[in-house]
Amino acid sequence: MKSLSSRTEKIAPSLTVAIDTLAKTLIANGKDIVSLGAGEPDFPTPEHIRRYAQQVIDAGKTRYTAPVGILEVREAVCRKLKRENGLDYKPNQIIMTSGAKHAVYNCFLALLNEGDEVIIPAPYWVTYPELVKLVSGIPIFVESTAENKFKISDQDLEKSITPKTKCVVLNNPCNPTGTVYSKGELEALAKVIRKHDLFCISDEVYEHFVYEDTFTSVAAIEGMYERTLIVNGLSKSHCMTGWRIGYVAASEPIALMIGKVQSQTTHHPSNIAQYGALAALDGPFECVIEMKKAFQERRDYMFNRLQKIPGVSVRLPEGAFYLFPTVSALFGKHTPEGVLIDSSSSFCKYLLEFHGLAIVPGIAFGNENCVRFSYAANMDTLQKACDRFEAGVKALL
Ligand code: GLU
Repeated sequence: MKSLSSRTEKIAPSLTVAIDTLAKTLIANGKDIVSLGAGEPDFPTPEHIRRYAQQVIDAGKTRYTAPVGILEVREAVCRKLKRENGLDYKPNQIIMTSGAKHAVYNCFLALLNEGDEVIIPAPYWVTYPELVKLVSGIPIFVESTAENKFKISDQDLEKSITPKTKCVVLNNPCNPTGTVYSKGELEALAKVIRKHDLFCISDEVYEHFVYEDTFTSVAAIEGMYERTLIVNGLSKSHCMTGWRIGYVAASEPIALMIGKVQSQTTHHPSNIAQYGALAALDGPFECVIEMKKAFQERRDYMFNRLQKIPGVSVRLPEGAFYLFPTVSALFGKHTPEGVLIDSSSSFCKYLLEFHGLAIVPGIAFGNENCVRFSYAANMDTLQKACDRFEAGVKALL
């Protein structure tokens, strides 16, 4: 038989998704597992969204839509961008996608030629480099450290630019670190992006979960609107993970390009999910505020517990719903069963096998020293997770 696609072979499967799937399978098989693997809010999709989608199905609105999505829904996205981000978009600049992950993929497809470099601040969401590789681009990582609040500076960015650089990915607030860039910091990065005439993909899916500061979209910074591709979705803000609904907001030529791609690939995201997004975008915002309050309490609880555990160093993140503690002080220790802990992966494997706790090794996000906890789970689960983590760490010391 002939060989399979080398481009596809080169990419790794998503470790966040793999760990979530494994944890769910173990739980279904009766194992006692506490999972803080995937970033998936534990709240149900708000009732007004569910009701509206049910009405839409009953009304028979179950036909194909335009590849870029239903006009009414794209108008609602424009209203949202104006209301919440102060940005003016027209519906022909919006493309509805099957989740934000799909939106990122479409952006890379629209921007990249073979060998184009994409700058990705590390730690990064697991998916960005793999999608860059999938479309024959080259991911270039700019490292950040916990000491610098996991932020890259304008100088760091400048140093990583080459004649092949095409775009910069900003994930603000960041998954996995919870870092939030301030308006001033974005302005400094934007200056470099403009100077080198680059595009910027701005993944803003956690924008509503900012606890210490206010959120600014990089598209709102002077000179950035035309070169920014905003990626967003309803999975996190409105607990619609399984609905798979997101969007891109970009300049018209880029939107046209993505629309063309979608017309030949997915055609469009499920129209039921699109109507669900309409109800979410135009509906009451209290549900999001309530959730943010709950996440902030959970963050504080988790932070207070983790910072007391010896061998673990954790910073209080300003946004999203993840904690990204450093655990490398534990490397070199042995488990009571005699297994050497020498990496974030061996540590997480040990926690899963011997303490029934699923979390994601930092290496998935380009940082071997850390592990990621999602705190988008109820307090009971978080308490159990902290107990198990603490017991697991103490057994190594
Ligand atoms: N974005 C979430 C996470 O990082 C969901 C899983 C995924 O797509 O990575 O856990």
